[in-house]
This record gives sequence, C-alpha cells and structure tokens, in this order.
Amino acid sequence: MFYWHDRRDLPQGNLERCFTDSLSGVSEAPFSALNLGLHVGDDEARVRENRRLLSAELGGVPIAWMNQVHGRDVVEVTPDSLGEIHDVDAMVTRSSGLALAVMVADCVPVLLEDAEAGVLGVAHAGRPGMLAGVVPAAVAAMRDLGATSVRATLGPSVCGRCYEVPQEMYDGARAQYPTSAAITRWGTPAIDVASGVAAQLAELEVPFEWIAGCTVEDERLFSYRRDAQTGRFAGVIVRRDGSESV
Ligand SMILES: [Zn+2]
Repeated sequence: MFYWHDRRDLPQGNLERCFTDSLSGVSEAPFSALNLGLHVGDDEARVRENRRLLSAELGGVPIAWMNQVHGRDVVEVTPDSLGEIHDVDAMVTRSSGLALAVMVADCVPVLLEDAEAGVLGVAHAGRPGMLAGVVPAAVAAMRDLGATSVRATLGPSVCGRCYEVPQEMYDGARAQYPTSAAITRWGTPAIDVASGVAAQLAELEVPFEWIAGCTVEDERLFSYRRDAQTGRFAGVIVRRDGSESV
C-alpha cells in the first residue's frame, strides 16, 4: 500500500503523510494494482475500491481528489466542499480529519504542512506545473490562510537521468531554473523537475524532505514514461486534532 509512510505526533493529535505504491489494490493490468486515477481508462468501480482501501488504511478519513490539468490554480477544501472536484493542481485546507491527495505517475507530488498553524496543502508539479509555479502558488495560499512556517515533502518522480526532453524544452527550463537542467544516462538533454521544485522551495525559505525514488526505475511505482498506459499513485497528507475517532 505505501511506498513511504510517516505519522508524527503533534501537541494535539497527529500528522500523517504517505506516498502509495502500485501494489495491493484491485485493478488489473495495465493498471495493477493500486491505481487511484479515474481518468486513465481503468474500470471505475475498481478505482473507487482502491480509493476506499487507501482511506481505510488512513483510519477512514475522507480524501479530497483533484482533476489535475498541469496549471497553477489552488483551491481551498473544506468539509462542505469535499465532494466537489476542481480542475486545479493544488489544494489547501485548514480542516483536520480531511485528507488531501495528489496523483502522479512521473510528476512530482508535493505535500505541504504547517502543523502548528493547522494548514496543509498538496501540489502536482510536472514540468509545466513546475515552470508555471504551482508549488509557490500553493505555499502563498497557505500563508494567506495563516501558515507561517511551511515545510514540504517531495515524493518520488521521474529522475533527471530518465526524463529526456527536446533541446528547446531543456533550454527553456535551464533559463528559468538552472538546477533543473540535467542529462540522461545516455547523454541527451533532460529535465530534473524535482530539482526545479527544490529551487523554488529554497527561494521561499521552505525546508523540505525529499523521498528518494525514480518512477521509471522502480517497478513499485506507476510511470507514464515507462508504460504509457498505466495507473496513478498518490501523495496524501492529513492532520488530526484529536477530536476525530481515528
Ligand atoms: Zn530515473
């Protein structure tokens, strides 16, 4: 179920962060097995069951999902708006007992938290989202909600040695974020999207934890680059303030 998982006690309640893997779900090839994306051609009932399994693993919390469009828009999620699915690439919330999810299969899943202020966020940063600034936009939205010391967690994504791009795309990324310029292991232009996100976080003075892992190289993760038709794994963050039963 989990590629990486962490649960930490807070003065009141706890904070749970995770990145799912592709194992132990009910989807069949080429989505086997824990596909969480409804938009990839998988059987809807199986995806909903996979989402239910994930929620159960997190103690039964409701999970907010996005319809991701590679943009930089952010939406605030409340218990009342939980059922609405927005065309955005970042969500923030002040609610406890409500999980935020970001889906990926090579893009960078970013979890954001200021546990003390009680503000959480997630962002979906592929190459377009990174260049458009979706992560800085999410951090700004959190600060608007009262966050003062945001911390980030970057999940596994396609690495710079595996993500080949055309020369002009490489040039564009390098001009904006020099550290995102990379070379594939076979010596052609590449982009390291996670390094670009890391540079943005550093600029904003947001400390981050980087969960190592390349989606293309690790079969436990879904990778669009590797398999084209495939599932999506997720990064999820949830805060509990102790008033919930879970
Ligand atoms: Zn790689």
